[in-house]
Amino acid sequence: MHASTEPSTTSIPSLTHDLIGVGFGPSNLALAIALEEHGGQGPGITRFLFLEKQPEFTWHGNMLLSNSRMQIAYLKDLATLRNPRSHFTFINYLHEKARLSAFINLQSHYPTRREYNDYLRWAAAHFQGQCAYGETVTGIEPVLERDHVVALQILSRDGDGQTHARRARNVILGAGGTPHIPPAFAPLHTTGHTRLFHSSQYLARVAALSDTPPRRVAVVGGGQSAAEIFLDLAEQWPQAQVDLIMRGRALKPADSSPFVNEIFDPQFTDFIYAQPVEQRMRILDEFRNTNYAVVDDDLIARIYDVLYQQRVGGHGHHALLCCHDIQEVHASGEQIRLHMHERLSGRTATQPYDVVVLATGYERRTHEHLLAAVQPWLDGLEGERDYRLRTHARFLPGIYLQGYCEPTHGLSDTLLSILATRSAEISASLLAREPAWTASSPQASRVAALAG
Ligand SMILES: Cc1cc2nc3c(=O)[nH]c(=O)nc-3n(C[C@H](O)[C@H](O)[C@H](O)COP(=O)(O)OP(=O)(O)OC[C@H]3O[C@@H](n4cnc5c(N)ncnc54)[C@H](O)[C@@H]3O)c2cc1C
Repeated sequence: MHASTEPSTTSIPSLTHDLIGVGFGPSNLALAIALEEHGGQGPGITRFLFLEKQPEFTWHGNMLLSNSRMQIAYLKDLATLRNPRSHFTFINYLHEKARLSAFINLQSHYPTRREYNDYLRWAAAHFQGQCAYGETVTGIEPVLERDHVVALQILSRDGDGQTHARRARNVILGAGGTPHIPPAFAPLHTTGHTRLFHSSQYLARVAALSDTPPRRVAVVGGGQSAAEIFLDLAEQWPQAQVDLIMRGRALKPADSSPFVNEIFDPQFTDFIYAQPVEQRMRILDEFRNTNYAVVDDDLIARIYDVLYQQRVGGHGHHALLCCHDIQEVHASGEQIRLHMHERLSGRTATQPYDVVVLATGYERRTHEHLLAAVQPWLDGLEGERDYRLRTHARFLPGIYLQGYCEPTHGLSDTLLSILATRSAEISASLLAREPAWTASSPQASRVAALAG
């Protein structure tokens, strides 16, 4: 059945990498660190390369709002839980930046997102030679030889439109999510309307509109990003009227209490992975309020205060429209008209806005698109405990996932909590499979032949 895919005809590159990573966000950065630190302990995965579409390392750059803080304690950094003595801990970053004492004086476990981005950039700078920035991976293809898939070909496109093809024995996908655009907004969003954008573009789009500040803005969503943007707009466009439009009845707090937080402990991954499917689903559902459609306590208090002070003054620009379903969206000149149904009263209304920001979350489906050409050799898209996809016997390379295993590995999978331990597990798995590629193995001779 698999012989239908012809061996690739592109020229054989001189190097077959041990590992190519798609995306260089925190997940793959943590893995790069784990692999490098293993390198000092004997033979390892040394020929690794990450392909990152952004021109330089940035962690959710368009959401680095002033005063936005981490939702995770700094000790859950890139390395501490795996190796507290690592060069790449947040504490060592502070030490190198001569801010360790000052940070202690802050008495907070939660740095600002801007500081954490600086920490991640500091760590990423160490891997400048192992990351090709400005390249978007467009596909992953099988390299066939005598009925066996012996390697993977990773195709990418750079900023000049040039296509690159590289080969690897292992691939790891850590490309994060893609913006979720609700169906009612999809047609207008596809036309590239300049005044309708997702939170992932927030700061850049607001800056582009600085010459023509809007009078009425809608922020759609009821989660952390929606709440942050709602408050930030007061700074960015102080004269604007801002409506936060959400389906829920109220902004709800994120549960970050200690017992609940144990679901983000590394050992919880073993527990949830071992459960039957229905039980896993039940657990995910039970703890959704740790991460989805919820807002940090202090932010809720600040928003409530803003709305209360408006009432004291008798006027104000901000409103929270809860229980609102947006049913239709129309462009009218530069304006965007939202047709809404208010569930409590049953009333409908159409409101015009100059700008609409969609803080509507992310989808995690990039792996499905990128792996389409190798799907016939895969036994589904569910990662095993070591995050590797199950493949058919004649498929020799390893494919690993970071951030696409929430249904099997739990709510920490898309977050930063388990980066350090997950990267240890993945590098251990990669290394354990190395003997299969040693000089005497048939796989190795095939790869060697390909590599010329
Ligand atoms: C605003 C915001 C704040 C957050 N704050 C927290 C927090 O405080 N704590 C927490 O635990 N989690 C937080 N999260 C969750 C977030 O998922 C993680 O923080 C983290 O970003 C996950 O890292 P990642 O490397 O898996 O994915 P990402 O950070 O999304 O990185 C993926 C990388 O892949 C690149 N990429 C995508 N497609 C391609 C392609 N085809 N080719 C090449 N490169 C590609 C992207 O440019 C990106 O750099 C936050 C999320 C957002 C949006």
